Amino acid sequence: MGNRHINIPVFIPHKGCPNTCVFCDQRRISGTISSPTFDSVKKLIEDSLSTIQDSEVEVAFFGGSFTGIPESDMIGYLETVKPFIDSGRVQGIRLSTRPDYINNHIIGILKEYGVTAIELGVQSLDPEVLKKSKRGHSVADVENACAIIKDSGIKLGIQTMLGLPGDTFSKALDTAYKVVSIKPEMVRIYPALVLKDTELEELYKSGSYMPLSVEEAVDWCAAIVPLYKSKGITVLRIGLHSSEDMESSIVAGPYHPAFGELVESRILLNRILQELKKREPLIPGKIVIRTRPELVSKIIGHGRTNIDAIKNKYPNVEVKVLADLKTGDFEIQNQ
Ligand code: SF4
Repeated sequence: MGNRHINIPVFIPHKGCPNTCVFCDQRRISGTISSPTFDSVKKLIEDSLSTIQDSEVEVAFFGGSFTGIPESDMIGYLETVKPFIDSGRVQGIRLSTRPDYINNHIIGILKEYGVTAIELGVQSLDPEVLKKSKRGHSVADVENACAIIKDSGIKLGIQTMLGLPGDTFSKALDTAYKVVSIKPEMVRIYPALVLKDTELEELYKSGSYMPLSVEEAVDWCAAIVPLYKSKGITVLRIGLHSSEDMESSIVAGPYHPAFGELVESRILLNRILQELKKREPLIPGKIVIRTRPELVSKIIGHGRTNIDAIKNKYPNVEVKVLADLKTGDFEIQNQ
């Protein structure tokens, strides 16, 4: 068995979801996307497995609230995967759901069928943000669900959104600290986008909601991501996957096709500026930033933004980047 991990994604829309989250366009897309049949899921897994070798494979039920669909459907999907798990061709199942759709009864079923990871759509741990976003669950629901999942031995993932109605940088940071204290194995971070046919679109058009700019969202993420990483929490994703379908439904908000890279680049810039600050007053001359070849573009920044930011702060120094480092992220030398 190789070390590669591959997910076989199965999109399960939450038809008839009774919730009214302001950012959600499920009502629009659930009219166009039908739930897959059990047979089609079986075929999808078989077809995918025929192209996969030497990897750890999980079937990933995502797209809505897997544990919020009718229980017989949920069990039907799990039954479909069971023979693949029993034969060892699939190593586990991961799924996404809402905090208030987790209880001991549901966890019992999920454990029985070999579910290995549950990702909870938490969005925020600030009561006002949850209320203004009409999430329909409380912070206590999140804490309760996380405790049940952790007790069960199933891996816990937490998904948060940044810049929802009522959110501020300090609330987002506070949410991140609370997430750290819950100790999930993994997180996903999504800046909130205004999508077509959502309540957020109405709020935006009436002027009562303003999404983050790309610049703000990158800044917020660049503060939060290192916090998670320093605690050993895996950051599975920063920003939405780009797809033509998704891009065409964006009305406003901090979308960038390479958002995750922008954040990684900003984190490196912040670290470089911290390092330079320690050396102040900087002697005018040349600064050489040595880095690994694969990090050069992130060190320089998209459109040389990082180099410009360094020059802006230290106008008397010339900045050169050398791709000759074997290990580590960067080293700075004054010449
Ligand atoms: S995001 Fe909210 S409204 Fe949309 S499917 Fe999930 S729970 Fe329902």
